[in-house]
Amino acid sequence: MDPTNEVGVAEGTSDETGQVVYLHGPDDLELREHPVPEPEPGAVVAEIETTNVCGSDIHIAEGRLGDPFLDMVLGHEAVCRITDLGEGVTTDNAGNPVEPGDLVAPVYYRTCNSCYTCAQGEHYNCLNSYSHKTKALEEFPHFHGTYGTHYYIHPDQHFYTVPEELESVPEVAAAANCALSQVMFGLDKAGIEYGDTVVVQGAGGLGLNALAYANERGAETIAIEGAESRLARAEQFGADHLVDMTEHTSVAERIDRVEALTDGRGADVGVEVAGVPEAFSEGVQLLRDGGRYVEMGNINPGSDIEFDPGIITRNSIEVHALVQYDPHYLEKALGFLAETIDTYPYTDLLDAEYDLTDAESALEHSASRDVTRASLVPNP
Ligand SMILES: [Zn+2]
Ligand SMILES: [Zn+2]
Repeated sequence: MDPTNEVGVAEGTSDETGQVVYLHGPDDLELREHPVPEPEPGAVVAEIETTNVCGSDIHIAEGRLGDPFLDMVLGHEAVCRITDLGEGVTTDNAGNPVEPGDLVAPVYYRTCNSCYTCAQGEHYNCLNSYSHKTKALEEFPHFHGTYGTHYYIHPDQHFYTVPEELESVPEVAAAANCALSQVMFGLDKAGIEYGDTVVVQGAGGLGLNALAYANERGAETIAIEGAESRLARAEQFGADHLVDMTEHTSVAERIDRVEALTDGRGADVGVEVAGVPEAFSEGVQLLRDGGRYVEMGNINPGSDIEFDPGIITRNSIEVHALVQYDPHYLEKALGFLAETIDTYPYTDLLDAEYDLTDAESALEHSASRDVTRASLVPNP
């Protein structure tokens, strides 16, 4: 990365400067410096403690999401330490008192509370979620992403205190605002109940979290996965049964296997977190009549697959497709992690730490899967 110094001190900023990793175009990262802003009323300025490399950061940095995700500050998973509270901020969004020095986790998008979907109570669908995300660095409040020394939490962006149990593992808490919150919301939307059989397609970050949550909710869990190392992890994260795709190579064989594990019925709930378009048409066939299916893995439009809609109608399959969550789920997710931090090996998943100046390597090594999950530590 080429470090470049930025503009002078603008209005509403302090004398202190901070750095961000700025994406200029596909695979073109720059470390840029900017004065740290003062928070508006209701906002919070914080120093990043740790921020993780997520699959979507890699896709964005490679330019796969195209415009407007080609000119922006990278990063969305983080925990940060409050440095400056805007006027009127005395608590986090759960009502816990906060002060400078506290470790908090922000939701990565905003909840405006004034758009059409917010007005329907569908906060996970807020139409203004990303209004801050793709702004140029010169635009207030500058620290739009978490790959930086500082971060700006907007007045309509929820944040929650990191529980004590997680203070020594900030990289685990940082991941809560993405994978874990998402799968908890998805499984709750699908009405997961004690005794349900839950089949999870894909044992990456989302899949492992889904297995752990379903397991803690009293479900019987089945993981479908092809990679040996991920199958082993699935077991550590609570999978009761494994379906190895290298053994059960066809869709028909996997349907048979899931039926055999569910007294011939099919699973009550299916979770697609493989991120493969074909997994969707397979997944709805793994369910019992009246089963519920949660689609969260295929997040980018543009793939055509063969699909038979008659299957979901004939079998009365309820489909929930979700890309964000109601922001209070982050508080639940942090609580879940605090309770189960000794039950599941979350820390094993975050296996590499990089300096902010080395963000390029962190992204490269994550893309090539040389590391499972990388963290950036900007203020060591
Ligand atoms: Zn993420
Ligand atoms: Zn809204």
